[in-house]
Amino acid sequence: MSKTKKLSLATWIFIGLAAGIIVGFMLMGNTEIADGYIKPFGTLFLNLLKLIVVPIVLFSITAGVISMKDIRKVGAIGWKTIVYYMCTTAAAVVIGLVAASLFKGAFPMLSTSGLEYEAAQAPSILTTLIGIFPDNPIAPLLNANMLQVIVIALLLGIGIILAGEKGAVSSGVVESLNEVFLKIMTIIIRLSPIGVFCLIVPVVATNGPGILGSLALVLLAAYVCYFLHAAIVYSSTVKIMAGVSPVAFFKGMFPAMMMAFSSASSVGTLPLNLECSEKLGARKDIASFVLPLGATVNMDGTAIYQGLCSVFIASCFGIDLTFAQMLTIVLTATLASIGTAGVPGAGMIMLAMVLQSVGLPVEGIALVAGVDRIFDMGRTTINITGDAACAIIVTKLEEKREARQKVTATR
Ligand code: ASP
Repeated sequence: MSKTKKLSLATWIFIGLAAGIIVGFMLMGNTEIADGYIKPFGTLFLNLLKLIVVPIVLFSITAGVISMKDIRKVGAIGWKTIVYYMCTTAAAVVIGLVAASLFKGAFPMLSTSGLEYEAAQAPSILTTLIGIFPDNPIAPLLNANMLQVIVIALLLGIGIILAGEKGAVSSGVVESLNEVFLKIMTIIIRLSPIGVFCLIVPVVATNGPGILGSLALVLLAAYVCYFLHAAIVYSSTVKIMAGVSPVAFFKGMFPAMMMAFSSASSVGTLPLNLECSEKLGARKDIASFVLPLGATVNMDGTAIYQGLCSVFIASCFGIDLTFAQMLTIVLTATLASIGTAGVPGAGMIMLAMVLQSVGLPVEGIALVAGVDRIFDMGRTTINITGDAACAIIVTKLEEKREARQKVTATR
């Protein structure tokens, strides 16, 4: 695709978002039009994205593994990805906790009497780990269970490599289907500006500025942290580890970030994120492995939100968290963000697990539930940006490793 075309899609998405916010404000108090006529098209667009996500993840990861031709290479990319994801997520929780401790004095003291929140069962860490491995090859595809789909794709790819000549037909089929689904994805992505518009209008029309109310400061604190995390952690790592200028990085990521902001779904943003990161230099085989994995397990924005909200909820209950409790929050929020599905609102459910880990009342979630969508839009934007940064960095590290291997081989 030419450069002008790339710019025009980003611009169109931005126009869609800005127009959506303006129309949303105009329709405030008249949610019938927003919910009845505009929201369904947003849902239609999200459905198309969800439709394409499972085949894209399945075939692109499998094709990615096959193209590496060597299982050791899959391992090399895998561990680099996991290390980057874990470190940046832990940094995110720390940023959330530090900011919350600084802002704490200014946070509103909301009344906690009569709070009720029916905590949806947040799975334990062990259940999450075991649940990654499916006992059925079809169900994960039907239920769009991304972690399980990733396991299936990895095994399929590894199986095809090991089968050698006899796996050639399967390899051809996977590669061909991968191309076909990527083409379908391109068609759907062209609809993004309209999709973004239809998704944001009902959110603004229903919530309006009034909803911010007493929580405006907590939301502000979250957005400051999201911004700091992107400006400090992503800017420095893409610059130092991949040699990409932060300005070019965020400019290139803009379409995917807008999409994440309006859809609040990492998984839904995956197709666009693949496109943006590849244009920023991430290699296709690496991006198609790193991004689907990240859309499911790497959630820095969610981790920030969980750290920050834990401190806020604790302060409303008049509880001062100890240093040990803070450390527990870093650990559980890092793990909870891994277990969070890349769909709207999932991070709030996992917040229950974080609160429980330090003995805070789960009902506290009710304090922030009303504005969850606004937290969610920012945290999803950060979540997908971290995935792309990782894809670009791992590509660079792999290129360096390959260059080193070539030098040793020619000696
Ligand atoms: N909506 C987020 C995402 O898709 C997950 C969350 O709720 O934190 O990345």
